[in-house]
Amino acid sequence: MVESGPSTGGRDSLDAFVAALRGPLDFLARASAATAGRTHLPAQALAARARLLQAQVEQPWQRELLEALGHALERYEETGLTERTELIQHCRMLVEGLSRPSAPPAPYRGTTGDPAVALQQLGRSVQYLPGVGPRRAEEFRKFGISTIEDLLYHLPFRYEDRRRVRKIGDLQVGEEASVIGELTHLSERTVGRAQRRILEGVLRDETGLLGLTWYHQMAYFRHRYRIGQRLLVHGKIERLPGQSKRIVHPEIDAQPDESGQGVLPVYNKPTTMTVGAMRKLVQQAVRTFAELVPSALPPWTAQTAGVAELGTALAQVHLPAPEANIQELNNFTSIGHRSLVFDELFFLQLGMALRRRAVIREMGRSLPRLGHLSDRLLQSLPFRLTAAQQRVLREIYADMAQPHPMHRLVQGDVGSGKTIVALFGALVAIENGYQAAFMAPTELLAEQHFSTIRPFAESLGVRTVRLTGECARQERARILSQLAAGEVQLVVGTHALIQEDVCFHKLGLGVIDEQHRFGVLQRAALRRLGNGGGAVTPDILLMTATPIPRTLAMTVYGDLDVSILDELPPGRQLGRTLVFTESERQRVYELVKRELDRGRQGYVVYPLVESSEKEDLRDATTMQRELAATVFPGYRVGLVHGRMKASDKDAVMQRFRDRDVHLLVSTTVIEVGVDVPNATIMVVEHAERFGLSQLHQLRGRVGRGADRPTCILIAPYPRGDAAYRRLQTMAETNDGFRIAEVDLELRGPGEFLGTRQSGLPDFRVANLIRDTRILAQARQLAEACVARDPALSLPESAGLRAVLRHRWAGRLGLAEIG
Ligand code: ADP
Ligand code: MG
Repeated sequence: MVESGPSTGGRDSLDAFVAALRGPLDFLARASAATAGRTHLPAQALAARARLLQAQVEQPWQRELLEALGHALERYEETGLTERTELIQHCRMLVEGLSRPSAPPAPYRGTTGDPAVALQQLGRSVQYLPGVGPRRAEEFRKFGISTIEDLLYHLPFRYEDRRRVRKIGDLQVGEEASVIGELTHLSERTVGRAQRRILEGVLRDETGLLGLTWYHQMAYFRHRYRIGQRLLVHGKIERLPGQSKRIVHPEIDAQPDESGQGVLPVYNKPTTMTVGAMRKLVQQAVRTFAELVPSALPPWTAQTAGVAELGTALAQVHLPAPEANIQELNNFTSIGHRSLVFDELFFLQLGMALRRRAVIREMGRSLPRLGHLSDRLLQSLPFRLTAAQQRVLREIYADMAQPHPMHRLVQGDVGSGKTIVALFGALVAIENGYQAAFMAPTELLAEQHFSTIRPFAESLGVRTVRLTGECARQERARILSQLAAGEVQLVVGTHALIQEDVCFHKLGLGVIDEQHRFGVLQRAALRRLGNGGGAVTPDILLMTATPIPRTLAMTVYGDLDVSILDELPPGRQLGRTLVFTESERQRVYELVKRELDRGRQGYVVYPLVESSEKEDLRDATTMQRELAATVFPGYRVGLVHGRMKASDKDAVMQRFRDRDVHLLVSTTVIEVGVDVPNATIMVVEHAERFGLSQLHQLRGRVGRGADRPTCILIAPYPRGDAAYRRLQTMAETNDGFRIAEVDLELRGPGEFLGTRQSGLPDFRVANLIRDTRILAQARQLAEACVARDPALSLPESAGLRAVLRHRWAGRLGLAEIG
């Protein structure tokens, strides 16, 4: 559908090429997978044309963009349908870059000097700045700003528009405004019954009088200004009944530029500094040092992303031009902001891309699927694997067969059948004469996995043990020696598996369930286990039921391959979720009773174990007693919570499984993995205390059988309240990814992931929620860079390498790189 006729050189034919590509690419990007699969794109011919043009264009960035485009098009035909969508997006992005007339807003030339030297200079203490002595440097340090670079990257949190200075007579109460006038009065007086001292001033222009009021630092301001002085004041206009207009605690510029004050950045600052002093220090640093900040992006990358050099970008955000678009500035979407954000995310993704490659180059062992165990498991299963399970297994098998370690994350909603997938992986390792380890985040889960897995494994003649913190000393010693001797092939456990003294004979595969509960460190520890006895890194399979929004996955798990189990086994009932308010409690109990009367079981979940004075929560312990005594007297009500002894916990869980306990009151220990098919109803108390993703996990605990389950969320809000509506999301969708996205938006990445050790870097300017599009672009372009120069060893990549090392060793704190 695209002609690849003769080219005549120059801009003309570049334009023609771009025009010829754009249509088909846009079409393919919008088409369904099926349509796209049927559509022919003469990719090879187009690639050849890109190569031809490469020799004709003038700008180096054009050459490089064409090269990247040619490279992408050449891969088109051999790319699978799923990845093709991404490849098409990538090509479109490059085409966009090509069709921009010239690099905006100023040519991106890239750094000329040695970036390492520049970075060193920028790394000096802020004390080097004029106006910053030891005392201020210390104030800055406490505030989190140590170096000149820190100060340059301390961006304004908002901007004030002072371009139009107003006349006092025109001011409206409630608006924020700037006024220039003469100070005609300044004195302290006592007001009100409380005899409070205040400082009052009056500003006059030709249209009227404006009051200025201070409640604090009166002596300071009284001595700072004198009567007759011309001042620019800025602030919110107020008016008390019967008085004239005034500004409380105005911002003041004592040397006003009468033609206007432009757009003023406003900074968070150490409390000891005034807004104005802070602004002056930052702006001065920017004027002197911003030019030094190395702009290390390859020019074609900068062109494609449409970003400015960092020095320019920093100047734009700290010293906005008089004609700047204030809305863009305040939204962090000005070109300066976008350039800084892109740069930060690009280097993050570049590091991730290199890390993925490092994993690939690392020595591992090839564990091909032999089949004598895995096939037998397949035959003995009481169900057929879902198509998604089969697809994910193919991906896992392919990885394991490679001579390099696997690093794969399987994301699958609750109940999508991850355990069995992991077991197949384990069997492949065992078929090859290796061992497999299965690590779960809690004793309860480890126990449950063990009881699911063992019957299958043992029937295949695979020796399986359990290793948790609960194991008695002697038993533990015995298990460790069996593992070291290779007498045991499969071990299921908790983090007890990664203690110092654990040593495997030949670990082939480590499975980590509910990966988000573990930190990066534990992941590393499990990998190290396989290194005992001179062996090489084992394959690692991570599993999570907390779907992670794509943006976050790219950041936290950017160094992993990802498989998605997006299908539930047939017959699995999607439950209904109902949101009730406190006043509807009786109805909730009736619904529960109805289930119990039908021989079903249920859960009541509480956020806390014991009531605390401060938080007036109904706690699990007292409610278990109350429910047993008053609401459900005819039923046995059990209790399980995180502070119980494991053996007691197990006993209660066992009774629940045996249907000896009908209603289980619990804290969130049941959150992950617990599997009792007869449980059909769950009540979550104080649902507002849980994150949405956590609620989604929780409700996945019911509906494991054939009956349609019910999950009831109780919250103390009236209907219509925002918090109530948030919970209503749960009633509206069963899509874990959708819920995760809403959750991420509401709570922010840090809280979403739950822990500091989640490996989430601390961004200076980027924001994962706001900047998702830039993140995706940064990832693609970083990939493209690594594809061109896998070890960043070309001379032109020297700048990239220096900045990358600086970023990763510094704030991102991830790992040192080669
Ligand atoms: P999760 O992904 O939440 O960890 P599990 O692995 O615990 O899910 O599986 C949930 C239940 O579904 C288990 O009882 C498991 O035996 C069953 N199961 C797994 N795969 C299938 C399938 N393809 N068909 C029917 N049931 C399945
Ligand atoms: Mg599971």
